[in-house]
Amino acid sequence: MLKDNLKEVENNIVLACKKANRERSSVKLIAVSKTKPVEMLQEIYDAGSRDFGENKVQEIVAKRDELPSDINWHMIGHLQRNKVKYIINDVALIHSVDSYRLAEEINIQAKKNNRIVPILIEVNIAEEQSKFGVRAEETLQLVEEIATLENVRIKGLMTIAPMVDDPEDNREWFRKVRQLSVDIDSKNIDNVDMNELSMGMTGDYMVAIEEGATMVRVGTAIFGERNYSKN
Ligand SMILES: *Cc1c(COP(=O)(O)O)cnc(C)c1O
Repeated sequence: MLKDNLKEVENNIVLACKKANRERSSVKLIAVSKTKPVEMLQEIYDAGSRDFGENKVQEIVAKRDELPSDINWHMIGHLQRNKVKYIINDVALIHSVDSYRLAEEINIQAKKNNRIVPILIEVNIAEEQSKFGVRAEETLQLVEEIATLENVRIKGLMTIAPMVDDPEDNREWFRKVRQLSVDIDSKNIDNVDMNELSMGMTGDYMVAIEEGATMVRVGTAIFGERNYSKN
């Protein structure tokens, strides 16, 4: 049962919070439901989840109409500028902003819809070729540029750590992202908070919480393995 999976993840989050001397309420669990059918999302919704993560615009658009309207949709995947308009009114938070041009388009669409859209800046902390995200040393400058846009609000940083067998191997990356967020926060840039740190997935969310994650994005541990070939 998916409910049992959710319960187990919840228990692990509680454990990691205890270990790090943090309140459970300081960490939000985002159920990453990409490729999964709405029936499965409904099951997790019924078990209490209200935050779901998707990496494709089309999937958010298709799923939102079939599910309760109080779901917070998190866009966690690479976002193309020409698709921003389709989700601008549906997203609670865009985790994956890594260029000024994308932020500019979000700003345009947000303004049109009379919204202020919260975003995170995606940092490619390990500088992996295969990943999107800005490099650590370019992050401050990008934050300063995006901060000038009136209808977007930077809330913090997001990172996808490398695929590793031992989650301890990602501790240093999480620590680096956290330090980067502290450094940027100390600049007191107008319109910018560094309150959110979106980091940690099925393989490493407990370590991420110990290193300060405020949002963990967990898919496989809740919904099971993804089968891309079926799609
Ligand atoms: C798929 C995905 C996740 C969840 O990955 P799991 O290993 O299944 O928990 C988290 N973050 C992003 C950006 C993803 O694309």
